[in-house]
Amino acid sequence: MIKLTFPDGQVREYSADIQVIDVAKSISEGLARNVISASFNGVAVETTTTLTTDGTLKFYTWNDKEGKKAFWHSSSHVMAQALEELYSGIKLTIGPAIDNGFYYDVDFGDTKIIEADFKKIEDRMLAIAREKHTFSMRSVSKKDALALYQNNEFKTELIQNLEDGSITFCDHSTFSDLCRGGHIPNTEIIKAVKILNVAGAYWRGDEKNKQLTRVYGISFPKQKDLTEYLELLEEAKRRDHRKLGKELDLFTFSKRVGQGLPLWLPKGAALREQLESFLKKAQKKAGYEQVVTPHIGQKELYVCSGHYEKYGADSFQPIHTPAEGEEFLLKPMNCPHHCEIYNARPWSYKDLPKRYAEFGTVYRYEQSGELHGLTRVRGFTQDDAHIFCTPDQLDEEFKKVIDLVLYVFGSLGFENFTAQISLRDQENRSKYIGSDENWEKAENAIIKAATEKGLSTVVEYGEAAFYGPKLDFMVKDALGRSWQLGTIQVDYNLPERFELTYKGSDNEMHRPIMIHRAPFGSMERFIAILLEHTAGNFPLWLMPNQVAILTLSEKYEKYAKKVFNLLEINEIRSLIDDRNETIGKKIREAELNKYPYLLILGDEEERNGTVSVRVKGQDGKTNQTLSIESFIEFIKTEIKKTEKEFNV
Ligand SMILES: [Zn+2]
Ligand SMILES: [Zn+2]
Repeated sequence: MIKLTFPDGQVREYSADIQVIDVAKSISEGLARNVISASFNGVAVETTTTLTTDGTLKFYTWNDKEGKKAFWHSSSHVMAQALEELYSGIKLTIGPAIDNGFYYDVDFGDTKIIEADFKKIEDRMLAIAREKHTFSMRSVSKKDALALYQNNEFKTELIQNLEDGSITFCDHSTFSDLCRGGHIPNTEIIKAVKILNVAGAYWRGDEKNKQLTRVYGISFPKQKDLTEYLELLEEAKRRDHRKLGKELDLFTFSKRVGQGLPLWLPKGAALREQLESFLKKAQKKAGYEQVVTPHIGQKELYVCSGHYEKYGADSFQPIHTPAEGEEFLLKPMNCPHHCEIYNARPWSYKDLPKRYAEFGTVYRYEQSGELHGLTRVRGFTQDDAHIFCTPDQLDEEFKKVIDLVLYVFGSLGFENFTAQISLRDQENRSKYIGSDENWEKAENAIIKAATEKGLSTVVEYGEAAFYGPKLDFMVKDALGRSWQLGTIQVDYNLPERFELTYKGSDNEMHRPIMIHRAPFGSMERFIAILLEHTAGNFPLWLMPNQVAILTLSEKYEKYAKKVFNLLEINEIRSLIDDRNETIGKKIREAELNKYPYLLILGDEEERNGTVSVRVKGQDGKTNQTLSIESFIEFIKTEIKKTEKEFNV
């Protein structure tokens, strides 16, 4: 008999030759119907795997991340089989499941796969799926594995790096592939498939290697799920920040300036400035002090911080000067600079915490293939701050940072998020810097702060940085996609490396603890996510232009200027469109620009000192005529409704 432990803590006994699926059946028929994969002692197993030892068994359905992974991993085998049947002589390389679907990197030789080919691949996959093949795993010796792939240099390379005795293949239908396992019970549950896209991908991601074709696909247990997914993709395309950024005149890129280096246009710059002053205001309330540091620093600075070791080889190379041996680096992080600001004078425990904030621009070299709009760039600005505090202050400081992050999310309409607490790997404590006692303190501070603030949390062991535990905010956007925004990290390492000190109440010198935090993360990435989340309809308080003043003809230019000035005095941001165009065209363009309020000015308005107000979303109707003063009162109230108070 073997003892199996289940996630709810229950322990049950089974005979020592039971299959995973039969264990599910013993619990309930419903469970057995829905189970599509399982893990035993944390390792993915087949539903047909025979269990022979005690251990922990977890079942997964389509609704679990692991279930989807098995589903898509299995679908990738089916796609590979379809591709081999359709294109003889191709070489398969690797084909993992990803967050949304799966891909396979294939060497197609001279054949080029285009969109017109997708349908026949999908049809072949579905035909294979309907044949209800089961997946079975078998061990293969290294020698036999190499023989099986003697014409495939990619698989050969993979196998050469594996240990003899650990190599397994998966078979289904007439197809086999090198595979570690973790499949669905049979192919028939794959009811809908879609080839999404093909792209070039270098073998092992290295530009020096051969370029392969990456075929992306996705599959579902129901046709309806696929339809919904494709609709979501369409909506995501409409909301793509690169498209909206162009339409709304926010940012651009120039080949001459360089890849991955965004140029902010006046409207985009206004939006950034709005976000920055919003955060600066809150930070001031929370006791932060603004600092400013240069974009470069001596190489030694980053050698001291350890960043050179980490980023040096793969990032921008040192800048040389006419002085022999002098080398500077573009800063990859603001932290070392802030450490030196702290070091500029001695501190006593009574002076702490010190909270230094800076919208600091940093530079990291990303491979050109990795660059993507504003989400992956080579130069970006962090809403960075570093808090230097005593161990006793850590609790309180951590809670305050959480308050600030929650305020930021709330003000920008991100309501749906979880906090991931990343702690040490308990088994492997030696790989972390700092005393056990300090780590315990910091980990407890994070857990306590997150609990007290009522955050919905997940704890991940082993996910902490080597220098300290952290709290990351995972935000769901309007399309249900998850983004990591906002991070708070405790750091014992940099205070050590920079020999930061303060005099304690015992008159002895002590090391402060450093907290790194950035609620937006990077301004570039944050704005990209905000654009896609809101489709460009930012909260009214943030809109770079809250009002557009449209004249019926050039005659009303003067009156328009007067309205503009009155709005400006009242801190309402507006612009005038007095071009010699039809009002219909001006309205259409203003709506494309997503200006929330349009004021239309003509004869009557000028004569009566009024404005005709048109609100976005109210189809084609000028909804009301107001005096300028009443409009100002009205919009002020509307702006207020979208603003949140930050209470310290
Ligand atoms: Zn597999
Ligand atoms: Zn930092």
